[in-house]
Amino acid sequence: MTAQIIDGNALSKQLRTEVATRAQALKAKGITPGLAVVLVGDNQASQVYVRNKVKACEDAGLHSVLEKYEASMTEADLLARVEALNNDPSIHGILVQLPLPAHIDAQKVIEAISPAKDVDGFHIASAGALMTGMPGFWPCTPYGCMKMLESINYDLKGKHAVVIGRSNIVGKPMALMLLQKNATVTICHSGTKDLKAMTLQADVIVAAVGKRNVLTADMVKPGAVVLDVGMNRNDEGKLCGDVDFEGVKQVASHITPVPGGVGPMTITMLLVNTLEAAERASK
Ligand code: NAP
Repeated sequence: MTAQIIDGNALSKQLRTEVATRAQALKAKGITPGLAVVLVGDNQASQVYVRNKVKACEDAGLHSVLEKYEASMTEADLLARVEALNNDPSIHGILVQLPLPAHIDAQKVIEAISPAKDVDGFHIASAGALMTGMPGFWPCTPYGCMKMLESINYDLKGKHAVVIGRSNIVGKPMALMLLQKNATVTICHSGTKDLKAMTLQADVIVAAVGKRNVLTADMVKPGAVVLDVGMNRNDEGKLCGDVDFEGVKQVASHITPVPGGVGPMTITMLLVNTLEAAERASK
């Protein structure tokens, strides 16, 4: 079997076109969806991420503001900026790029964002909403994974999903989303005794670890769907995921590549959340 590739670029293009259309409809009512991206310090990777986010907004017709601050910015000043953005009616979504410099309490800053503008879905209110099935904002990466499953019309009811990784931004929310769609969910982590025994039972595997080859072909049940969230560098310095793509694609029914899989979907879901925030604010 050779797996069907779930193309994150193609799906993103389709979803971003839908975002642009909905943004136009809001604009006709005098509202331009707006995202504020706040970057503190000069982390190289963060600079690339925020540039990509701002460009994606512009391409979809969303208003975006990039606020860049020195690494020496105080926590109090950052909290004051977040408060100002909370009160700015032209801004519907606020994203504070992580990581923040060590002297700033990142969780405190996230909790300062109004839940109505928490388009990253990291606020404790968003986490609580996801856990209880209430309306809120879903974290973009696992939300993108759910869209990828939707794109292949995958019915999760009664399926066994194994999530490898339990971070607050990927693994845990991923597990809750799969649960909400009636999958039976197992969460694995660094303390899991026999990862292979878990993954071999899975109909769906989401790898969100940050280590190459965490998932190899011998660990995958034939016909399983494999979503690779990981972002690593191989020996040649090229971007790769957590999954041994060449091996696993011979066993899985569907697989996401890296690059071109979950990565572009993460930014796409940020646009979707920002649009959603603007639509909610307009009601
Ligand atoms: P993280 O906070 O470092 O979490 C990694 C998780 O993997 C932890 O729960 C850890 O377990 C678990 N783990 C570590 N080694 C393991 C092993 N050998 N077997 C099973 N589980 C193991 O990372 P993250 O923020 O969730 O990100 C995970 C990966 O996704 C990274 O490569 C990151 O760059 C990537 N990522 C990609 C996107 C995207 O847009 N494509 C977005 C976000 C993240 P413990 O909890 O026990 O330590």
